[in-house]
Amino acid sequence: MTTDPGPWAIALHGGSGVEPSRDYSKAVAHLDGLVRRIAAHLEAGDAALDVVESAVAEMEASGLYVAGRGSAPSTAGVVELDASIMDGYRRRAGAVAAVANAVHPVKLARAVMDATPHVMLAGEGALAFAKSHGHPLVADPAGYYVLPPGVEAKDLSAALRHHGTVGAVALDTSGRLAAATSTGGLFGKLAGRVGDTPLIGAGTWADQTVAVSCTGSGEFFILAGGAQDVASRMRYQGSGLQASVDGLIEDVARLGGDGGVIAVTRSGEIAFACNTPGMKRAGASSSMAPFASL
Ligand code: ASP
Repeated sequence: MTTDPGPWAIALHGGSGVEPSRDYSKAVAHLDGLVRRIAAHLEAGDAALDVVESAVAEMEASGLYVAGRGSAPSTAGVVELDASIMDGYRRRAGAVAAVANAVHPVKLARAVMDATPHVMLAGEGALAFAKSHGHPLVADPAGYYVLPPGVEAKDLSAALRHHGTVGAVALDTSGRLAAATSTGGLFGKLAGRVGDTPLIGAGTWADQTVAVSCTGSGEFFILAGGAQDVASRMRYQGSGLQASVDGLIEDVARLGGDGGVIAVTRSGEIAFACNTPGMKRAGASSSMAPFASL
């Protein structure tokens, strides 16, 4: 006897640091194409974990967001990247923090999860791990990194502005949830600064109930409890998904931060929340047609 496939769902974000007067149409068009391709993969039975990894890797490579190719250097002139991935079904996770010039930080995070007994590698150790695993590194930073559309050169010297972290959360037809997030961090950050993105529970969370990815002023997401706070609101308070993501953003705002969050549940419900003028986002599910918007 075969069982019918369960519901599937995908949500993506490309960062919430948007300025109303700027043009993010390239990123929104990219998200639109990406979410449609991912929807087809999930519908065909692909695993949520593989889907969030490849979605984030594609966003990293695009140069359209402040992650991977669109990342900017710290005040010390080095591009330091953060990423994390979490398998909610098996409750496993991997992350890299402040790793210089990795082409695909999210793939490195997956390798930390799959090939080491650790959850996170940082700095020089993460770089050594990348080299020993043959992970591609940017050989010519000046020729590789680009300023993403919607980001202006003057932003690079702005004090701790966030702009375009990327993230993906997914439910597959076998009922497994996964989340992944990747960033170049805040503009104007000090060398060695690590935000919420690579911290499991802060920037990224997935368990058997919900998968969550955050973007915004990372210090405040850390202080508010971050992505795991959404799961806790659902588990301990019995809150619904939308109320739980709204609750996290209200706490971030109360502390003085701003940003956004995406989440998907085991039943295929999707929710978005932000307290910024917008968040590049996209979603699709077995009961919702694909969309992308700001
Ligand atoms: N949350 C990221 C960080 O603080 C920035 C962002 O989301 O744009 O590093």
